[in-house]
Amino acid sequence: MVKPDGVQRGLTGEIIQRFEKRGYKMVGCKMVWPSKELLEKHYADLSGQPFFAGLIAFMATGPVVAMVWEGKEIIKMGRMMLGATNPQESAPGTLRGDYSIDVTRNIIHGSDGVDIAKKEIGLWFKPEEMFDYKSCLKEMVYE
Ligand code: UDP
Ligand code: MG
Repeated sequence: MVKPDGVQRGLTGEIIQRFEKRGYKMVGCKMVWPSKELLEKHYADLSGQPFFAGLIAFMATGPVVAMVWEGKEIIKMGRMMLGATNPQESAPGTLRGDYSIDVTRNIIHGSDGVDIAKKEIGLWFKPEEMFDYKSCLKEMVYE
């Protein structure tokens, strides 16, 4: 998900391109201005953290771009492409390491496990907003 700061800064295209160019397949994409209720469900595991209220408040300041990507080890590789949570520790070459400085404005969210991804997809997407299509990537990207 491109966070509100990523959308405002015009980084949506760059973020999508990084995943497209690597060879991942987009199967869902939409702009959403999330309610606090949705965000509280999305970040429920962090509700006890001191930064929770500030995180929810910031995430509700504007629209985000929610996406679902498919590909080999996409969760693990996607997390590597994002970089560390705190941009001060994100390596150059990662999205956060190239485009962000402070932790609450780290431009992008990525699911960090298969079960979490399923939960998050269920929160953000209706089944008819996801697309099962044949892409040419299968022959050209994978052995
Ligand atoms: N966050 C924050 N302060 C912190 C830690 C995290 O504002 O001290 C924010 C940050 O934007 C992060 C989000 O909370 O992306 C979710 O935290 P998580 O630990 O799940 O990191 P992520 O999975 O996004 O790397
Ligand atoms: Mg997380």
